[in-house]
Amino acid sequence: MNWILILIMTLLGAANHSFTATYRIGFDFSNGDIKQEIIINENIWRVSGYCSCKICCKQYANGITASGKKVKVGIVANNWLKFGTKVNIEGLGGLIVEDRGSIAYFGTKEERRKAIDIYFDKHEEAKEFGVQYLEVEVRK
Ligand SMILES: [Zn+2]
Repeated sequence: MNWILILIMTLLGAANHSFTATYRIGFDFSNGDIKQEIIINENIWRVSGYCSCKICCKQYANGITASGKKVKVGIVANNWLKFGTKVNIEGLGGLIVEDRGSIAYFGTKEERRKAIDIYFDKHEEAKEFGVQYLEVEVRK
């Protein structure tokens, strides 16, 4: 059954150029979750949007990044890239890692997840950006 879902996802992705990866879809019978995972293009990351509100940052909603800077557009969050690392995100240009995020999405230094969170000034903008699968290049 899984191969049908993989095919559908691939066709949808190819049709709207939203991603160039193929997804592996699986069902976790222990808790009923549907899991999806990118299995082809290694440069495609899960890219999401956030702002400094309580919905996005919970107890850390103070407008200060994990590196101690004032949040501003151009900042991204990731848990294992060093502060100050520049990343090139498809269609968005160069952004700088100055923040950290949820381990569930971004992992840790030991378990590096290819995920990044982009800062927006307004919650609506972050929400509208949602979650996209885009090509990310980490600049050396
Ligand atoms: Zn928000």
